[in-house]
Order: sequence, then C-alpha cells, then structure tokens
Amino acid sequence: MSETTRHSYDVVVIGAGGAGLRAAIEARQQGKKTAVISKSLFGKAHTVMAEGGAAAALGNVNSSDHWQVHFRDTIRGGKFMNNPRMAELHAKEAPERILELEYWGALFDRTPQGRISQRNFGGHEYPRLAHVGDRTGLEMIRTLQQRVVQLQQADAAELGHPEAMLKVFAETTVTELLLDGEPGGEDTRIAGAFGYVRESGEFLVFEAPAVVLATGGIGRSFKVTSNSWEYTGDGHALALRAGATLLNMEFVQFHPTGMVWPPSVKGILVTESVRGDGGVLRDSEGRRFMFGYVPDVFREHYAESEEEADGWYADPANHRRPPELLPRDEVARAINNEVKQGRGSPHGGVFLDVSTRLPAEEIMRRLPSMHHQFKELADVDITAGPMEVGPTCHYVMGGVEVDPDTGASLVPGLFAAGEVAGGMHGSNRLGGNSLSDLLVFGRRCGLGAASYLDGLGDVRPAADPAVIERLGAEAAAPFEHEAGENPYQLQQEIQQTMNDLVGIIRRGPEMEQALESLDKLRERVAGVRAEGGTVYNPGWHLTLDLRNMLLVSEAVARAALEREESRGGHTRDDHPAMSAEWRRSNLVLSLREGRIRLRRQPLDALRPDLMELFDREELGKYLTEEELPPADRSDG
Ligand code: FAD
Repeated sequence: MSETTRHSYDVVVIGAGGAGLRAAIEARQQGKKTAVISKSLFGKAHTVMAEGGAAAALGNVNSSDHWQVHFRDTIRGGKFMNNPRMAELHAKEAPERILELEYWGALFDRTPQGRISQRNFGGHEYPRLAHVGDRTGLEMIRTLQQRVVQLQQADAAELGHPEAMLKVFAETTVTELLLDGEPGGEDTRIAGAFGYVRESGEFLVFEAPAVVLATGGIGRSFKVTSNSWEYTGDGHALALRAGATLLNMEFVQFHPTGMVWPPSVKGILVTESVRGDGGVLRDSEGRRFMFGYVPDVFREHYAESEEEADGWYADPANHRRPPELLPRDEVARAINNEVKQGRGSPHGGVFLDVSTRLPAEEIMRRLPSMHHQFKELADVDITAGPMEVGPTCHYVMGGVEVDPDTGASLVPGLFAAGEVAGGMHGSNRLGGNSLSDLLVFGRRCGLGAASYLDGLGDVRPAADPAVIERLGAEAAAPFEHEAGENPYQLQQEIQQTMNDLVGIIRRGPEMEQALESLDKLRERVAGVRAEGGTVYNPGWHLTLDLRNMLLVSEAVARAALEREESRGGHTRDDHPAMSAEWRRSNLVLSLREGRIRLRRQPLDALRPDLMELFDREELGKYLTEEELPPADRSDG
C-alpha cells in the first residue's frame, strides 16, 4: 500500500486549464495559499488545444458589436436554455478579461490598425473571436502560466520561496473530495481532496476549506471524440459524490467537423475557423448542402444562395451569413443526415474545402495547425484539396449547478468553473465562448472561494481520518481483484454504448437499452482488475477513472431519456420538435445512496430589459404564451 502525504492550503484548484489557472491566480491575488492540481503535465489541457479563439465583444473589426449583441447570440445559440445571469456576466466581462490577458503578455493577431484582430465564427453576428492564428489556446495557457510564474517570483522575493503561496501539483489525479460530514448532509462542508501522484502512486491528502473544480469535459465517455485521455468526467463525478448537483447533462455538443480518416485519428478536431475563414461543406456530388438545412428559427439571418453567402465575407452589412456558419448542432445534424442519405465522402464524412476559397499562402497563414495536422496524419494537403470531416463528441454543456456570480455549488466550499460547470451555454455552446467563459468564471470562482474563506471563521472543516484510510484502500482495491476484467475492455464498452445509443441522434428505447448496459457494466467495473504495481501504471489509473466515466455516462443517458424534445445538443428522433414547455425546465441530477436521482427545476426567466433584445416573433418560437411580453410592447 502507498504512503500518504498531507498538504494544507486555503484553496485547492483541481484542473490547470484556463478556468483552473485563472481561478488560482485570483485566489492567490486575494492572498490565499493556493494549490493547483492537474492530472496531466502542467500546460497540457484542452485549453491549450483550442484553436479558433476567444469570443469577446471588443468591437475591433465591427464597431456595432457590444455586449448585448454577444448576449443575444449566446442565448440564440443555446436555444434559450442558458442561465441568463451567466450569459450576461460572460458577455459583459469577456472584453475586460481578454484585455487583461493582453496586459499579462498575450500576443494576439492584429488588425491593420494594430488592434486585437477578431474572426468570424458560427452563430456570432460580428467578427468576435480574438485569436492567434489557429493556436489561440496555446497563447492563452502560456500567458496564464507566465502570470503564475510572475506571482511565484514575487513570493520568492517576499517570502523566500516561490511556492510559498502558489504551488502546482502536476500529474496528480484527484479521486475524491473530502467532506466534514456525510455527502448531502445539511451542514456538510468541503474539507479538501484526496488523490495520487501518477508517477509514484503515492497518495496525497489536501486539507482545504475551499475547492474549485476546473476539470473540463467528459468526451472520453464516447468512442468518437475530440477529447484527450484525461476527460473522463472526473469533476462531474466528484461533485455528484460530494452531494452537489449537475444540470442538464443531456446537452452534449457534437462538433460538426472532426477528422474521419485514417481510423487512428478519427474524431480529432478540425477547427470551425476553416468555415469562419471561408471553407465550405460539400456532399459527394459537390453540392453545398447546408442551404437545405437552415431551420425556421434562423432563416432570416442566413443566406439563401451561394452568391449571397459569398458576398457576406467582404460585405457583411449587405449580405446574410453563409449557412455553413449556423450553430454547431445544426451543422452536425446536417452532416449526419447527408452521410445517412448516401451522399457522404469515401470514408463516411463530407467534404470541407478551403483550397478553392483562399490562396495557398493565406491558408498557411491563417490555418497553420490544420495544414500540419492533415499533412502529417492523413497525407492531405488542404491548400490543394478538400478535407473529409464528420461529427465528433466535443463539449458538454451540462455540468455542476453553480451560483452565477461566485461559482459556488450547493456544497459549502465547493466551486466550479469552465467546462465542468453548467448553465452558461444552455443547450448548445457557440464556438469561442468557452475560452472567454474560462476567464470570466475562473476569476469569479477565485473571488468566490476567497470570500467564502473570509467568512469561515477560525475552525476549519476536517475530514474523518477513517474516511481517508478507506479512500486509500478503495484506490488500491483493483490490485486485489484476481478474477476482475481488463479496464481497457470495459472502457471500450462504455464508449461504444454511449456512441451507439446516446449519440448525436437519440431514441427512447435505445437509451433504455444504454441504461441497462451501463447497469450491467457497473458490477463489472466494481470488480475491475489492475495488473502490476502502483508506480506509473496507466492501467491502474484507468480502473479509477472508469467509475467516473460510468457515473457521468449514466447521468447523460438518464437526462437524455427524460427530456422529451429536441434542442441544441440533444436530438430525439422520437421527439423531433422543440417544446416551449420543456424549455422552462432544467433537469437537475443528484446522487442518493449510490443512485442518480433526477428532478425538474424551473429555468430562471429572462429579465425584461434582456428580453427586449429579441423581437416578439423570435421569442414566440421559444417561449410559452404565458412567458411572452404583451403584444403591444415595442420590439427591441
Ligand atoms: P481544460 O482546459 O480541459 O482543463 C482541465 C484540467 O483538469 C486539466 O489540467 C486536467 O488535467 C485536469 N483534470 C481533469 N480531471 C482531473 C482530476 N481528476 N484530477 C486532477 N486534475 C484533473 N473553445 C473555444 O472557446 N475556442 C476554441 O477555439 C476551442 N477549440 C477547441 C479545440 C479542441 C481540440 C478542443 C478539445 C476544445 C476546444 N474548445 C474551444 C473548447 C475549450 O478548449 C474547452 O472547453 C476549455 O479549454 C475547457 O477549459 P477548462 O479550463 O474548463 O478545462
């Protein structure tokens, strides 16, 4: 059995992507002793992989842009299921957070006038994504890490040690949150976190009254995904087991364009910037099929002919947008249908062509990573021919239910920010809105955790030593299961089940079948076997991730079966329409006696001044009659 080492902090941030780093920086700036933990290498997170950019209404390329337009686009993209307060805070504060990043050293691409350049993306009315070629996330993480180092250098000068107030624990996985009582108990508070060092297998206890979850997504529960190995839904599962609630887990974003070939790279993302910069989608007959898929709710904003669509790039004031730039859920469903109708590409996708739309040198300048990715992985030169692309599981809109202003969950001391938090993006996230979400709510979570600590008093919550002992024994248990199964086989079965039965198009009986399969898998996962010892052993690590994947998969399947409508990242073949009644309900999941419970909870209403940003006709497509403003109100 491994040794256990104890650490004591004010704030422990789990996750070192954009949300985690921004939260940690804020907590440290507020004078709190802070630890940042990351499952992978420091700097390796989804944030670093983000290509297209961060959405913020800076108005640098089109001065008509302002926070209300960004708010309106976000709500439209989320099909009116967003938490309105979160969408408001996000739209208002994103520009300030981008400028702060620039102040800390981020080098964004420039307009000819020397301002931060902004590019077009699906669902955004104006060019809005601040970017660095197609490597925006890399610059964002580099800048945040540089800020961490700056703070550490200041601590070294003042306190004699760089890690006196802010320390990074890389390649360390948290397996459980610590509480000072029973999960779900009325007075139960956060007391810290328990985990292990991936390299040595050593167990770690972090004593801390405030924990920020910033663990990102759940994509590894699906077979075809843009997500990397870490994204096993740990934060979502940790929150559930600690007594917090999850919101709307049925909303899972399938990005329309992942690589489809060769099989070893299936699912790897092809950035939306390809379409934002002029790339078009074609079927096997060369048709730009997206013109046939503009839904009624968006019809007035999208072009009806190729001529009109192409005119938009140079003259957006007098042309409507190309339908390739519809929100992601619409494009993903359209591609899925084209393939199903037999008009797909040779390897089961469709064609995405930028080679006939931009000169080769411009493609190399704007999309260097995409050029490299296709050349290296598929031997395709995107300056000379089209790519083959198809939907891939990309992002989860559902997540921990939080207070919009502070990121606080229902468990005192537990906060969540970034992809692991729910509500902000409604039923479908617009591209570029995640990177700005991380900065806005990462900072707010850091502030929320600091102010929680200030109100806590002198006695800190502490976990029962017997619980810590039990967690160590549970983590080591897979070595004892002699008759247990191989974790990789079980992982594959979970992924196949979710892909086939709770994927992009869903049906009631199939989801019931998925839940039965997951139920059977639960017993097998409980007995899973780890070979070898605790020193760098990825097989053992997976045995511990599997129960998170299973719990999160069940949460998605249960919520998806319950919501009997189609909206954003939740498409039901058996309930194909959006329902204004269903829109009024959030689905809230909790864990009681090891089983997921689900209840409906009213969605917060739009404030009248925010409702005025939409005209009544548009509101009528989403809201019930009872919710609509009086008919004689002048339209905003
Ligand atoms: P991440 O950046 O995902 O970081 C999660 C962190 O949590 C990691 O450090 C991980 O190691 C850690 N972690 C997880 N579990 C544990 C555990 N149990 N213990 C300890 N640590 C743990 N969004 C945009 O807005 N614009 C884009 O252009 C864009 N492009 C994208 C391209 C790709 C290929 C992908 C995959 C996503 C893209 N997204 C984009 C989405 C966006 O990058 C993510 O939603 C966002 O980065 C999530 O940030 P985060 O801080 O919440 O989590």
